[in-house]
Amino acid sequence: MVQVNANFAKLQSSYLFSTIGKKVREYQTAHPRAEIIRLGIGDVTRPLPAEAIAAMHAAVDEMAHAETFKGYPTDIGITFLEEAIRADYALRGVALELDEIFLSDGAKSDCGNIGDIFGTENIVAVCDPIYPVYVDTNVMAGRAGNPDAGGHWNRLVYLDCTAETGFLPQLPGDRADLVYLCSPNNPTGTAMNRAQLQAWVDWANENASILLYDGAYEAYITEDLPRSIYEIPGAETCAIEFRSFSKTAGFTGVRCAYTIVPKALKSGDTSIHALWGRRQATKFNGVSYITQRGAEATFTAKGRAQVRETIAYYLQNAGAIKAGLESAGFSTWGGVNSPYVWLKAPDGMTSWELFDLLLNEAQVVGTPGAGFGPAGEGYFRLTGFGTAEKTRQAVERIQTRFAKFEAGGVLG
Ligand code: PLP
Repeated sequence: MVQVNANFAKLQSSYLFSTIGKKVREYQTAHPRAEIIRLGIGDVTRPLPAEAIAAMHAAVDEMAHAETFKGYPTDIGITFLEEAIRADYALRGVALELDEIFLSDGAKSDCGNIGDIFGTENIVAVCDPIYPVYVDTNVMAGRAGNPDAGGHWNRLVYLDCTAETGFLPQLPGDRADLVYLCSPNNPTGTAMNRAQLQAWVDWANENASILLYDGAYEAYITEDLPRSIYEIPGAETCAIEFRSFSKTAGFTGVRCAYTIVPKALKSGDTSIHALWGRRQATKFNGVSYITQRGAEATFTAKGRAQVRETIAYYLQNAGAIKAGLESAGFSTWGGVNSPYVWLKAPDGMTSWELFDLLLNEAQVVGTPGAGFGPAGEGYFRLTGFGTAEKTRQAVERIQTRFAKFEAGGVLG
């Protein structure tokens, strides 16, 4: 009989979004006229920048003629997108070589696939709560061991991010060879400053560890914070950075991302850059020409302006959620430099209790924090990815619901 990868049996079923979907469907069936507002969404909703659309149309036309047709992108050596990315990093004072930039179809794939080049004996640190992909891909690879009673894998190191630490990870007390960091963070919306990132870079260099830095939301940073780990001195010898056009330019359905692996990054004498290059050359055939042209267009002056406009729209929504909930008495994090607002469920409610209450009594859907790890219990995520109008309505409904509670209580 064929043996399967037994690690898959260890995966906790990803029931978070299916349970949310089921509860929403049941509610809608029971209340057909209810107008449910979805603020749990982790996907963008605004259309692609017009510049990207025009560039992709033109690229389609090129594919229609033998003289301008393009085949495997990896074989024909086109590098216009890497050049645009390099120029973008240069604006932040980061000097990259073109072949330190690896294009891909998504930061999700890269965050998971990066594990291919690292041994299974490594100790991996993840934040809790966190984007579940980091944990699940390491479980699949056999790096997680077994779950303990608290829902943690016994061979992963968890960096608890709590209200006391402003939902920022603290340096590990124990050994950690690989550390996933995500800033601005999904789900907590918090972003690390220069001093905090410098502490991580220094720690990683001292301990010969590697930081796996997920910058999928860097474009949401509006304050004076680093947008790349490579703005931090020493990062080129200890960090890999993942970035994506998904949340930056609405490419969630188009698929385009990139990962930076500096040539200076080594494990002993082994070049991590060479390993990742070999891995990608073997298992990945490149990003489609049409997609690359669309992504390139987001770096033109007009493209940048259009991207900024859309991000400002989502940030405005997030800001409205944050302000509205705080005025209703909630404690919140994120919502600035991030499309995500993280909030504490009131009065000791669990994440799912708050989910049910908001669905049943305000017809607003969010995401229970417990779905992002044990330390997310008691918290809740709302996002700025909805429309401005629906976001405003949702905030009003939550305010009304909780004003009722403060004025005399129906919560029990
Ligand atoms: N990293 C984080 C932290 C995310 O939240 C997401 C998407 O939600 C991704 C990566 C995935 O990005 P992509 O669409 O490029 O695969």
